[in-house]
Amino acid sequence: MRRGRTTLHFERGGFYADVENVSAMLCGRCGARSVPGVTALKISDAIEKLFRAGKDLDMTGISFHKLAS
Ligand SMILES: [Zn+2]
Repeated sequence: MRRGRTTLHFERGGFYADVENVSAMLCGRCGARSVPGVTALKISDAIEKLFRAGKDLDMTGISFHKLAS
Protein backbone atom coordinates (compact mmCIF):
# COMPACT_ATOMS: atom_id res chain seq x y z
CA MET A 1 0.00 0.00 0.00
CA ARG A 2 1.21 3.49 -0.77
CA ARG A 3 -0.17 6.95 -0.02
CA GLY A 4 -2.05 8.53 -2.90
CA ARG A 5 -5.20 10.25 -4.09
CA THR A 6 -8.40 8.74 -5.33
CA THR A 7 -11.95 9.61 -6.33
CA LEU A 8 -14.87 8.21 -4.36
CA HIS A 9 -18.30 7.67 -5.88
CA PHE A 10 -21.57 7.71 -4.00
CA GLU A 11 -25.02 7.00 -5.36
CA ARG A 12 -28.39 7.19 -3.71
CA GLY A 13 -31.95 7.75 -4.86
CA GLY A 14 -30.99 8.77 -8.38
CA PHE A 15 -28.34 11.21 -7.23
CA TYR A 16 -24.67 10.78 -7.76
CA ALA A 17 -21.72 12.39 -6.00
CA ASP A 18 -18.02 12.30 -6.83
CA VAL A 19 -15.44 13.25 -4.22
CA GLU A 20 -12.14 13.98 -5.88
CA ASN A 21 -8.62 14.09 -4.50
CA VAL A 22 -9.26 12.03 -1.41
CA SER A 23 -6.11 11.06 0.48
CA ALA A 24 -6.03 7.30 0.72
CA MET A 25 -3.75 4.31 0.89
CA LEU A 26 -3.72 2.61 -2.50
CA CYS A 27 -2.62 -0.84 -3.50
CA GLY A 28 -0.84 -0.82 -6.84
CA ARG A 29 -1.42 -4.52 -7.31
CA CYS A 30 -5.14 -5.09 -6.75
CA GLY A 31 -6.46 -1.51 -6.72
CA ALA A 32 -7.71 -1.71 -3.13
CA ARG A 33 -8.24 1.68 -1.48
CA SER A 34 -8.29 2.50 2.20
CA VAL A 35 -9.47 5.91 3.39
CA PRO A 36 -8.39 6.90 6.93
CA GLY A 37 -11.25 6.93 9.46
CA VAL A 38 -11.27 10.68 10.11
CA THR A 39 -11.34 11.46 6.40
CA ALA A 40 -14.03 8.86 5.75
CA LEU A 41 -16.19 10.37 8.50
CA LYS A 42 -15.79 13.90 7.13
CA ILE A 43 -16.70 12.73 3.65
CA SER A 44 -19.74 10.71 4.68
CA ASP A 45 -20.93 13.74 6.66
CA ALA A 46 -20.64 16.00 3.62
CA ILE A 47 -22.25 13.41 1.35
CA GLU A 48 -25.10 12.94 3.79
CA LYS A 49 -25.80 16.69 3.68
CA LEU A 50 -25.65 16.74 -0.11
CA PHE A 51 -28.09 13.86 -0.45
CA ARG A 52 -30.42 15.46 2.09
CA ALA A 53 -30.33 18.82 0.28
CA GLY A 54 -30.65 17.12 -3.10
CA LYS A 55 -28.29 19.61 -4.69
CA ASP A 56 -24.78 20.97 -4.75
CA LEU A 57 -23.80 22.73 -1.55
CA ASP A 58 -20.91 24.57 -3.12
CA MET A 59 -18.28 22.37 -1.52
CA THR A 60 -14.96 22.13 -3.24
CA GLY A 61 -14.03 18.76 -4.57
CA ILE A 62 -17.50 17.27 -4.55
CA SER A 63 -19.46 17.06 -7.75
CA PHE A 64 -23.10 16.24 -7.24
CA HIS A 65 -25.63 15.53 -9.94
CA LYS A 66 -28.70 13.62 -10.88
CA LEU A 67 -28.21 10.42 -12.80
CA ALA A 68 -29.19 10.66 -16.47
CA SER A 69 -32.20 8.44 -17.01
ZN1 LIG B 1 -3.69 -5.36 -2.93
